[in-house]
Amino acid sequence: MKSRFAPSPTGYLHIGGARTALFAWAWARKQQGQFVLRIEDTDRERSTQASVDAILDGMNWLGLAHDEGPFYQTDRFDRYKEIIQQLLNEDKAYYCECSKERLQILRDELTEKGEKAKYDGCCRDKNLSSGVVRFKNPLEGVVAFNDAVKGKISIANKELDDLIIARTDGTPTYNLTVVVDDYDMEIDTVIRGDDHINNTPRQINLYQALNWRLPEFAHLPMILGSDGARLSKRHGAVSVMAYRDEGFLPEALLNYLVRLGWSHGDQEIFTLAEIVELFELKNINKAPASFNQEKLIWLNQEYIKSADVEHLIKNLAWHLDHQQIDTSTGPALELVVEHLQERSKTLVEMAEGMKMFYQDFDEFNEKLAKKQFKDSQSIQLLMTKLNSLDDWVASNIKDQIKQVCEELDIGFGKIGQPFRLALSGNGNAGNIDIVAQLVGKDRTLARLQMALDYISQRSD
Ligand code: GLU
Repeated sequence: MKSRFAPSPTGYLHIGGARTALFAWAWARKQQGQFVLRIEDTDRERSTQASVDAILDGMNWLGLAHDEGPFYQTDRFDRYKEIIQQLLNEDKAYYCECSKERLQILRDELTEKGEKAKYDGCCRDKNLSSGVVRFKNPLEGVVAFNDAVKGKISIANKELDDLIIARTDGTPTYNLTVVVDDYDMEIDTVIRGDDHINNTPRQINLYQALNWRLPEFAHLPMILGSDGARLSKRHGAVSVMAYRDEGFLPEALLNYLVRLGWSHGDQEIFTLAEIVELFELKNINKAPASFNQEKLIWLNQEYIKSADVEHLIKNLAWHLDHQQIDTSTGPALELVVEHLQERSKTLVEMAEGMKMFYQDFDEFNEKLAKKQFKDSQSIQLLMTKLNSLDDWVASNIKDQIKQVCEELDIGFGKIGQPFRLALSGNGNAGNIDIVAQLVGKDRTLARLQMALDYISQRSD
């Protein structure tokens, strides 16, 4: 069994494309089949190498590995020419020289009459030898197929045009290349967005003219933004790699994507293995799916919480590099990641939260400092006590904080809050004794000194 993903390299890998790729990949994996990657680059003006790279990067980051390919349609022009010639020879296609102007007049006339604008077959029997090549769509009968998602679909042939299969320069068009490729590459299930559903009857007629076996078709519902319009750049990041940059884990995004138009009872969290095991075409919804950023963030947080520290470290590498955080001079990365796991919704947040452990700062958040750095006596006492600690571990640090509270008869917050601000610079820190342990003795004392300096400067 084989399925395929066949993107056109005219932009990055977007959310809709990634969802199509995931469904096609899962269906192949489920049946221990092959997943084919095909780059549909026949539109030479709009296709770019940068976009091919972006698609490959996106697939790679998501972990959707292909078994065959990537195949490039531009490498297959000879094959398409051969099929176009075969259709011409068998009188199943013909040259057409109708000018753009004629076609426009024709369209206008039909539209005015309230009829569907379609080519009138003017050149069908002219036996011309140049121009575009049109496929002789059958004039009678209906094309019917059973879409794995949408169910029975049928359309009368008289509704369909004589499709252009080659341009005047001889280059093939999408509907021809896709049929030749899916046949040659032995694709059993064509899984793609439902924006292609209108092309399917035309493609089926081509298969039939060539006496080729038909694949099964599964057309995926659209993805809508929160405002009900088709998901687009307007809705924020739609490129898969932008989600990496925003701190999502690939498996969280995959989990989110699989639920866009597919369900298994009311289960929300799926491992990749479960996706493969449970995936069924019949459980794909017919109705459009809505993209919900909050749910994606929730899933990401769940994944971060339960991920292996090693796995998080691997995925953090890009962010540490990007935010220029050098972790070689500071606490063991594992400990910091473990500490931040519970409190980070994204890896960007996690990397932000790591800064206090590896980078010094020279000022405090002004608003918080004004409010919290008032009493030098308690900070001074805490410093003295911490300075005398030989064994710099959280439990000992905690004891010292408690002692300060007891000796000065103050509540925990009175010293805890300034201590947190002193350590972090911005007040964003978790369990204070653990944070202090990780920041280390020297840095902790230096930061408390900075807080004292701040107080004395203010009272000057
Ligand atoms: N290249 C087409 C696209 O990116 C997909 C064609 C197909 O899946 O049949 O929309």
